[in-house]
Amino acid sequence: MTTPTKEGSAAVQARRVLVLNSGSSSVKYQLLDMDDRSRLAIGLVERIGEDTSRLLHTPLTGGGAGTRERTGRIADHEAALKAAAEELAADGLGLDSPELAAIGHRVVHGGLRFTEPTVITDEVLAEIERLVPVAPLHNPANIIGIRTARALRPDLPQVAVFDTAFHTTMPEYAARYAIDVETADAHRIRRYGFHGTSHAYVSRKAAELLGRTAEEVNVIVLHLGNGASASAVAGGRCVETSMGLTPLEGLVMGTRSGDIDPAVTFHLKRVAGMSVDEIDVLLNKRSGLVGLCGDNDMREIRRRIEEGDERAALAFDIYVHRLKKYIGAYSAVLGRVDAVVFTAGVGENSAPVREAAIAGLEGFGLAVDAGLNAVRSGEPRLISPDYARVAVAVVPTDEELEIAGQTFALVERLGRTEQPGQAEPLGQVDN
Ligand code: AMP
Repeated sequence: MTTPTKEGSAAVQARRVLVLNSGSSSVKYQLLDMDDRSRLAIGLVERIGEDTSRLLHTPLTGGGAGTRERTGRIADHEAALKAAAEELAADGLGLDSPELAAIGHRVVHGGLRFTEPTVITDEVLAEIERLVPVAPLHNPANIIGIRTARALRPDLPQVAVFDTAFHTTMPEYAARYAIDVETADAHRIRRYGFHGTSHAYVSRKAAELLGRTAEEVNVIVLHLGNGASASAVAGGRCVETSMGLTPLEGLVMGTRSGDIDPAVTFHLKRVAGMSVDEIDVLLNKRSGLVGLCGDNDMREIRRRIEEGDERAALAFDIYVHRLKKYIGAYSAVLGRVDAVVFTAGVGENSAPVREAAIAGLEGFGLAVDAGLNAVRSGEPRLISPDYARVAVAVVPTDEELEIAGQTFALVERLGRTEQPGQAEPLGQVDN
């Protein structure tokens, strides 16, 4: 709802940021108050474009009114964002609120140009569009989200926060594939890395947990969600990461193969007669844990292992073996490691994965304390014994908070948090 303001009324110090994460068939949003970094509302629109679309909206102010649900077809991202704006408005948190400082958009691919959060202009949007060929699954949805949000609030700063940005500090020898340079450059083929917002947040939090500054520590971050990636962060700067041109490279993931001999793809085409699109689906959707054992949820895999299921046990061993290889490789890349940090759905919750990934790495100064590892907590914590030379930690990731923080820091730097308090009412519906 709009707070009526008289012409000439005192300007409002806008301290709220709306974070939008637009995927191919979903939009996730969170409204944060940057004074205390609290959530005012969170929501999700899923199955956009299907008859079974669903919006879940949870206001987190005013005594916990509970989650509201809308079902029925939400035709496209524009309709999804408008519906989300209506839900926010119904809680008095509408997009027209003078307290809204900016909208922060998660953008997956920023190429080489976007090394930092960036205020979105027509020119910036055109550049994000130019990157669609290297991020065909992700950037188009991000672009639709940006266009729709700009149409809803053209006057408001909109900031793109790129998944690739944190990795742009990788040295050229880590970012380049060893293929013909002209071909690589003509098609912008290089290792970009993803999950950068999470790696940035978690590596900084890990330094805090160690009681040091980010500049003082070298950490290996293992972001183990349905997608999974590792990074080596030296003094706050990413020097190596496991994802590459696309999020397919690196660790074994829920449905993606991770590292594979590229000749497997020629073989599948020539010998198995598969099309490029079929191979794409195989490696991105039917591989990793799901391809190995039929399940991609680590809880289910552990349950099956307890029951003696050998396929699940082999899938787990392959997953953990790849993790160990990356921990070893990144220890060598960093030279000195202060902490190995687990994050995201699997990393934060699966004690067996953490235990197995670190087991046998005593020679690297790594060990896990079984009691500490078994503790369930939403807080950053150490799980290594006191005697271990290298800390092992669990740090819950928070990409939305990081996007909001980066967005707000930018608009504050630009002096754009002062709103006249006269925004046009938008997307409001009485309900
Ligand atoms: P994310 O992509 O970060 O949301 O992580 C999702 C994945 O985390 C799921 O596919 C599960 O494999 C894993 N996960 C979530 N909760 C647990 C849990 N309690 N124990 C083990 N794995 C979990």
